[in-house]
Amino acid sequence: MNTPPHAPLLFPVHRGEIQLGGVSIRQLAERLNTPFYAYDAQLSRTRVAELRAALPPTVQLHYAIKANPFPPLLRHVASLVDGCDIASSGELDKALAAGFQPSSISFAGPAKRDEELGAALRARITLNVESLGELERLERLGQTYGIRPHVALRINPDFELKGAGMRMGGGAKPFGIDAEQAPTILNKIKQMEIEFQGLHIFSGSQSLNAEAIMQAHSATLALAENLLSSSGLHARHINIGGGLGIPYFPGEQRLNLTPIGAHLHDLLQHHAAWLGQTRVIMELGRYLVGEAGVYVTRIVERKTSRGETFLLCDGGMHQHLALSGNLGQVIRKNYPVYIAAQADAPATELVNIHGPLCTPLDVLGHKIALPPAEVGDLLVVTQSGAYGLSASPVHFLSHPPAMEILV
Ligand SMILES: *Cc1c(COP(=O)(O)O)cnc(C)c1O
Repeated sequence: MNTPPHAPLLFPVHRGEIQLGGVSIRQLAERLNTPFYAYDAQLSRTRVAELRAALPPTVQLHYAIKANPFPPLLRHVASLVDGCDIASSGELDKALAAGFQPSSISFAGPAKRDEELGAALRARITLNVESLGELERLERLGQTYGIRPHVALRINPDFELKGAGMRMGGGAKPFGIDAEQAPTILNKIKQMEIEFQGLHIFSGSQSLNAEAIMQAHSATLALAENLLSSSGLHARHINIGGGLGIPYFPGEQRLNLTPIGAHLHDLLQHHAAWLGQTRVIMELGRYLVGEAGVYVTRIVERKTSRGETFLLCDGGMHQHLALSGNLGQVIRKNYPVYIAAQADAPATELVNIHGPLCTPLDVLGHKIALPPAEVGDLLVVTQSGAYGLSASPVHFLSHPPAMEILV
């Protein structure tokens, strides 16, 4: 049991029971069927407030909807942030229904279909264009509809966010226009029937390394300055991406926002002359909602196999693919798992936790130290508010869908 600890539990514990939004997980489980996801509205509000306090006041916050599009949560986040980033016309419908203003919505994605571009044009949102072909298609569609497209160029930077869980920039990528090709395309834009909005430079995601994030911010603003000054185009906004991670695995710790905010402050001062009124946007998904969500599953069976203990649960990878390690992890690591009613009891046994699916991939925990768990107990997986249900193969094995609740 000598694995490094997970980051501390963020939810209060009352008489051993984990509380979320003022109720215990057990009380929530009496109202909903297991498995379910519960999201703590207050915790997301706190994260946004902490960001606002740490970042320069002019920096705008956008929410990347793909992290969690649950409509009640989306309405809540819409009331907290300045805009959102969508990646499909389905997300466009959800963003508009949640109350985001069209002028605050931007649409990224490497393979946007004509129908999606058309829907975006009619809704008057900004399109983050990812290739020359897409730019030309968009201009033609704009002429057909009689609407001038609002276009930002997504750049595939010539650097990456070091240590990021997911690298989205640097090297050959389906995303964005290579920084080397951008000057030619920016020149073309001047002759096109479009409204140029600015640049979108997203270099990576899920970083817990403040130093690497600061380096990426410096490189991003330097690249933006370079591209804009050589083209002579004026940008209304520059989206500098996000990348702020949350601690999922043993030994990982929460990011300290203070140095990141102070560094961005200095950077904006340094670039103030050319930035002028240009808005700087950060877009975040998991940082805003990831820690606010838990996944709750009930133990259906307990058994031993060749000396190891197995807890077999009603929840699994069909509802939480990332927990099973199959959403992009190279080596599977354990998420934090608690027994809902014994959150502060000492861990006395090592258990393997599995879901109901007939595949060895359906792992919820491998050799996790827990207090003694029994059939009927509720297990709580934290750090589950982002890339949970909507990022999972929910039809696999035809189990009923998980419920979701915002508390
Ligand atoms: C997925 C995505 C994000 C959000 O990433 P997080 O790690 O959830 O913050 C932001 N911007 C773009 C372009 C994305 O594709």
